[in-house]
Amino acid sequence: MLPKFRELAKVYLTPTIFSLLTWLAGQHAINLQQELWDNEEQSVLSALSKQQASNIEQQLTNSLITTEILAHQVKNNPNISEDEFISIASKLVQSIKSISNLQLLPKGIVTYIHPLSGNEQAIGHNVLFDDMRRKRAMMAIETRSLTLAGPFKTIQGPVAVIGRRPVFIGQGNREVFWGFVSAMISIDTLLANMQFNQLTKNGIHFQLVDLEPSQTTTFAGTDLSDHKNFAEQIINLPGQQWMLRLAKHNEHHTVTIMAANAALAIMCLLIFMVNYYMIRKPLSLSKKIRRQNKQLFQLENLDKESGLGNREHLDRQLKRFFKLTSESPKGAFILINIENYRNYRTLHGQNTVNQLSKLIGERLRYVTHFDDLLAHLGEGNFVVVIADVSNLNEVWLTANRISELLRKTLHINGQTVEPINSLGISIMPEDGKTVDTLLKRASIALSEGRKNNKNPIRIFSEEMESNYIEMVELEMSLKQAVVKEQFILHYQPQYHLESNEIRSFEALVRWQEPNKGLIYPDKFIHILENTDLIQQVGHQIIKQACQAQYTFSNILGENVGMSINLSAKQFHDPNLFSFIKDCILNVGSPPSCFTFEITESLLVDDNLEHLELLNKLRSFGTNIAIDDFGTGYSSLAKLKQLPISELKIDRSFVKELPLNTTDIGITATILTLSKHLDLKVVAEGIENEAQHQFLLQRKCQLGQGYLYNRPLTLSKAAELLYTERARKVKQLSDINQRVAINE
Ligand code: C2E
Ligand code: CA
Ligand code: CA
Repeated sequence: MLPKFRELAKVYLTPTIFSLLTWLAGQHAINLQQELWDNEEQSVLSALSKQQASNIEQQLTNSLITTEILAHQVKNNPNISEDEFISIASKLVQSIKSISNLQLLPKGIVTYIHPLSGNEQAIGHNVLFDDMRRKRAMMAIETRSLTLAGPFKTIQGPVAVIGRRPVFIGQGNREVFWGFVSAMISIDTLLANMQFNQLTKNGIHFQLVDLEPSQTTTFAGTDLSDHKNFAEQIINLPGQQWMLRLAKHNEHHTVTIMAANAALAIMCLLIFMVNYYMIRKPLSLSKKIRRQNKQLFQLENLDKESGLGNREHLDRQLKRFFKLTSESPKGAFILINIENYRNYRTLHGQNTVNQLSKLIGERLRYVTHFDDLLAHLGEGNFVVVIADVSNLNEVWLTANRISELLRKTLHINGQTVEPINSLGISIMPEDGKTVDTLLKRASIALSEGRKNNKNPIRIFSEEMESNYIEMVELEMSLKQAVVKEQFILHYQPQYHLESNEIRSFEALVRWQEPNKGLIYPDKFIHILENTDLIQQVGHQIIKQACQAQYTFSNILGENVGMSINLSAKQFHDPNLFSFIKDCILNVGSPPSCFTFEITESLLVDDNLEHLELLNKLRSFGTNIAIDDFGTGYSSLAKLKQLPISELKIDRSFVKELPLNTTDIGITATILTLSKHLDLKVVAEGIENEAQHQFLLQRKCQLGQGYLYNRPLTLSKAAELLYTERARKVKQLSDINQRVAINE
């Protein structure tokens, strides 16, 4: 939560600060510019106001001079006639444009006005009795000087000022107040003369204020109180003060400032975005890198199928374990192999296999301690490393728990999978400190356990290793032997017990190892079977045996039987039947001379393919014998349905004949049964006369054993057959002789 907040703060705070600073700086610049403009404007305005104020002053002064001229005329001629007044006044009004009219007010009463038109109603007005005018009029008399009245709205209408000059006539003490001469100056006309309207057009507004002490009043222009920049100038007039106020409402600047503000806002936004992007980019990059590092770690350390560690992970963790613990405590390295893993893939597809690995991974997690190390090395090989075990019992218990749990049925994608497992265990540190050695030794234990299917859990021992090495070496030499065809056959004769005649031979394989000499099948047959080399060797054996049968028959002068052992693995060879057929047809002997010995185990699981091959062999004419009969689990009742022609009583039942009552019972049953089923019986391993006699008495027809012959080389067997032939020839001539004598 906290790093996320920090990240957010980093992403948004910095750009915000940057744009805020830009905004402030921009605002400051705009304000400075505005101030500059204001100052400029201010100085222009104050210069202008100064000039205009002096103009007004000038204009008014000029206008008021007319009163002085008039006053002078009255002084000289107090009884001035209307015509005389008009003549003077009209000249004055003409020359001074601002004058609206000129008046004569003897005793304060408006008597003459020029021009009269429009001003008629003012005639007769006594300013000394008018409340509005009286004050100023009295002031003019008192100060004996020109007084400015107004500005006010005149009786005639427009706003105007009236300059009143008191006129005194006479000299010294006889001087008396005559009245007033006055000039009315229309403010509008005054302003128009001064071209104030031009100012307004240029955006300059003005205000004229009468600064009468009691109340200030605006009498021309507009109210400028809401203007920020204005210039004021006092206008000093006779008896009063005005103020001219100029202001400029500069819309051009307002628009510019608004535009500048908008540009600033856009700039701030851009700065925010660029900053955001610049900060965001490395952050998102580092996020991406973190994510990719995680993926890389998973790729490097995790097995995709199961989600457990992989081989590299196991290596690293084990190295760390041994580095961390100086005392090298005991640990167990358990290798678990799921059988048929490859077949599951072939049958159900990769998806199912992935699911299987995943479920096995989950089960392993469930059954182990959280700090045990788990890995999948691929192809159904899982590893559990338990650190810090105090005794082997503990290891056994865990291994058993694992084996049991993994055996439980799984349902994957609609398939039911019942995984079979084998476990090989190596102990740390005795058996090794690296994955390589521990794995090698656990594998040895595992394959050792697999040989004996009863217990799928094995702990490694040194003896296992030497056996294993021996086996591997043997396996390698056997591969060479197959190529070099180092396998030969020995032949053990089978006798007719009653006549002592050789009826047949059993072909028994031997390995002619160039350095070690003759090696017997119990040392190598199982390896050939486990490595599928048996199929190739099987072909060599069948070929040799067929040729031997042909040779033997030629020597004896009659057909001799040949029994050939077939192991269950040879039944997986799809060419077996055609190969046998070709060999027999090649030598030209009748197929009935050949017997194929199979073990009971081949018949136990009702394999249809096996049955089909047996039927083919029977139909072709060859015989099928059950070897080592009585040691397997085939039911006697079933024999009837099988294409069998012969039973070979295992030598373990013959060995203790005629003393062991159980063996007596078994052989008797086999003999009765075979008679019943019309099967030939061969007793194996007859070593002494007592056994021979017992079997003879029980009507066993055929037998083989050391009593008669050990398995013989081809030449020895041939020699035996020559002797046998000679014996037979002699026997025949003896018989013939005896017949001739009797005749
Ligand atoms: P098997 O088929 O039961 O062969 C008989 C074995 O008993 C032979 O051992 C033979 O030498 C031995 N034997 C014969 N008479 C006596 C006796 O009186 N006393 C004792 N103690 N043993 C006797 P061998 O030759 O060592 O063969 C062992 C096994 O190897 C055979 O047992 C057979 O299962 C297998 N084998 C031999 N040759 C072949 C072969 O060509 N192909 C296949 N697939 N297996 C073969
Ligand atoms: Ca045999
Ligand atoms: Ca046998």
